[in-house]
Amino acid sequence: MVRDPLTGEGALLGTTRALRPNEFRDGPEDRCAFCPGNEDLTPPEIARYGDASGWNVRVFRNKFPAIVPPDGDHEVIVDSPRHDEEVTALGTEMWRERYAAALERAPSSYPVLFKNSGAYAGATILHPHTQLVVLPDLPDRWERMVEGSGCTLCDEFARAAREETLVAANGDAAAFVRSHSRFAWSLTILPARCASSLLAADAEGWNGVAALARDAVQAIGDAFPDRRAFNLLVYSDPHADAGSFHWHMEIVPRVSTLAGFELSTGMFIRGSTAQESARRWRRMLAPLDGSI
Ligand SMILES: [Zn+2]
Ligand SMILES: [Zn+2]
Repeated sequence: MVRDPLTGEGALLGTTRALRPNEFRDGPEDRCAFCPGNEDLTPPEIARYGDASGWNVRVFRNKFPAIVPPDGDHEVIVDSPRHDEEVTALGTEMWRERYAAALERAPSSYPVLFKNSGAYAGATILHPHTQLVVLPDLPDRWERMVEGSGCTLCDEFARAAREETLVAANGDAAAFVRSHSRFAWSLTILPARCASSLLAADAEGWNGVAALARDAVQAIGDAFPDRRAFNLLVYSDPHADAGSFHWHMEIVPRVSTLAGFELSTGMFIRGSTAQESARRWRRMLAPLDGSI
């Protein structure tokens, strides 16, 4: 990791990243590297769910890594053999398994789980997949999240129903729109039990969060069938003190791109209020009624 002495901002040097094929720019490859039957196109398999007849989820090192051992690691998790399944129950199970495996290998590391889907969200491969970048240090932005006393997200969530920013809930998790998030359409999915690491969640707690994420991603696909683009971000600090960080997911539909003002100042311009965004999310999720 390198640091800009002018701004203090950190950056990784991933010199092979520019060599990546880009299916959104250049059209689909003849053989999708992430599809069954084309396993020879990826680096060696690290893990899979499935058997000799096939796989449901498959994991390998990123061919074009942002960071490499011994500094860190960069894995790709192919969530499904299909192109029309973005977030799956088995896939999210694998996310947690790989997160735990990374910490077993490097106990002081900070694994970062995220999903880019669609060209406007930074994806270069059409086949749905999730990435795990294992960092040696806590990212600056997360460090600022941990600062301060008490749990900010617990406080915000306690006000969500009254402020009409609550979108959906099940027994283990809730989805709401934060009034101060960078993007108006960001959906925060918060586990009911406050813990700093996602590994502190039991199976029900994890599945409760994952189920809301699956519904939200499905709703984005239904609402923007031709221009679906979103990022799914998992925030979890395995080394934070209890009560100082609340692990959670953020789903960011990419309805706008970062422009000059954002790049210059690091500040974001919200196009709508949290209440308006929450109403829109509730309308988008209504057709999926019964799953939440
Ligand atoms: Zn494919
Ligand atoms: Zn909390």
